[in-house]
Amino acid sequence: MPTSDPKAEYAFAPPPAVSILAPPGKPFPVRRIFCVGQNYRDHAKEMGGNPDVEPPFFFMKPADAIVPNGATIPFPPGTADFQHEAELVVAVQGRGRNIPLERANDVVFGYGVGLDMTKRDVQAEFRKKGRPWEMSKSFDFSAPCSAITLMSQTGAISAGEISCKVNGTLRQKADLSDMIWGVPQIIAYLSQQVEIAPGDLIFTGTPAGVGPVRKGDKIEATIAGLEPLVIEIG
Ligand code: MN
Repeated sequence: MPTSDPKAEYAFAPPPAVSILAPPGKPFPVRRIFCVGQNYRDHAKEMGGNPDVEPPFFFMKPADAIVPNGATIPFPPGTADFQHEAELVVAVQGRGRNIPLERANDVVFGYGVGLDMTKRDVQAEFRKKGRPWEMSKSFDFSAPCSAITLMSQTGAISAGEISCKVNGTLRQKADLSDMIWGVPQIIAYLSQQVEIAPGDLIFTGTPAGVGPVRKGDKIEATIAGLEPLVIEIG
């Protein structure tokens, strides 16, 4: 595991740690952002996937794609179809490989509401060519996320309404219990592929109803019991 020496003389100043607000006033430092693809049947269908035969799959965003609640994000370059995906975000404070299902919730710090912002036209083009999705998903400002609510306050979340409005119009509405892979399954599966570490965030996938946003739009993503996320497109 690489470590950084606070006294080292680097070639230039190391970037500041990316963090998200979390009670009791101590920010949650973000390490990596893992995202689950097609984790709701109706969204998998709208994307042309087959949710009943495929195990979960993951992609990543850089930590500095995080955008705090209430921010205005720029309409990104290189797309004519910039879309919202409202998602439950799991903040991890534990560490482990091959975490058994029954212990998976032990690594959870808390939960947030996230938007997996996506250049849908770019993604479709990459899918067609069999190329990595990365640049359709992992660009600057692509991961708005609310403050983290501690699991000690919410309990382990496995159900509750998730919704997304654009300019007050309801676009996405589902229940977290509709997720194909629940939070413990996602953690168990991901930890078979990488060592999960403190600071990791997991975006758990979006329900159906994803759609485009334009300059000036206001996106409101909500999950029962968590701080609502409000983002504007500038
Ligand atoms: Mn997503």
